[in-house]
Amino acid sequence: MMTHTQAPLPYAMDALEPYMSQETLKYHYGKHHKTYVDNLNRLVVGTPFENSSLEEIVAQADGPLFNNAAQAWNHDLFFLTLSPHAKTAPEGALKKAIERDFGSVEAFKEQFDKAAVGLFGSGWVWLAETPEGTLQILAESNAGNPLRKGLKTLMGVDVWEHSYYIDTRNSRPEYLKNFWKLLDWSVVEQRFEAQ
Ligand code: MN
Repeated sequence: MMTHTQAPLPYAMDALEPYMSQETLKYHYGKHHKTYVDNLNRLVVGTPFENSSLEEIVAQADGPLFNNAAQAWNHDLFFLTLSPHAKTAPEGALKKAIERDFGSVEAFKEQFDKAAVGLFGSGWVWLAETPEGTLQILAESNAGNPLRKGLKTLMGVDVWEHSYYIDTRNSRPEYLKNFWKLLDWSVVEQRFEAQ
């Protein structure tokens, strides 16, 4: 029987201030994310997925098991993409691919922000790569993610209110400005270059 765990944060709980507060991380990582992982471990018992990897569960399960597994995976990916010493712009092959598919890095960020501000209700906005090698922005409700669609996930932003209400109250656009300060493009480049 596989027990799933949260990825440890590679930075201190106050390291992302002033862009993301210690209080937000205490709730978002310490309570919301933890609850998804706890629910996953409880819900997986007695299902065919007891010995499956988290990725296999996200790809194949349905209902509450999918929702909690996907949120466990989404938050691992999200928190590991942030850094107090973020590389603030992509370089190399990733930069070229973004310019090819969106025109420029600035145009990509504008489209990504538009998708993130425009997503109604709770969800995630992702940058993903298709099997053919094209980059896409995906706006997904609730726990939706590129892994479920057979795409390679490069990065994503959580636009559930719990991710920003403590720091920027109702303002998702202000939260997104802070997100870009913390997004570590070196992590995104590593995912892009990995097979
Ligand atoms: Mn969240």
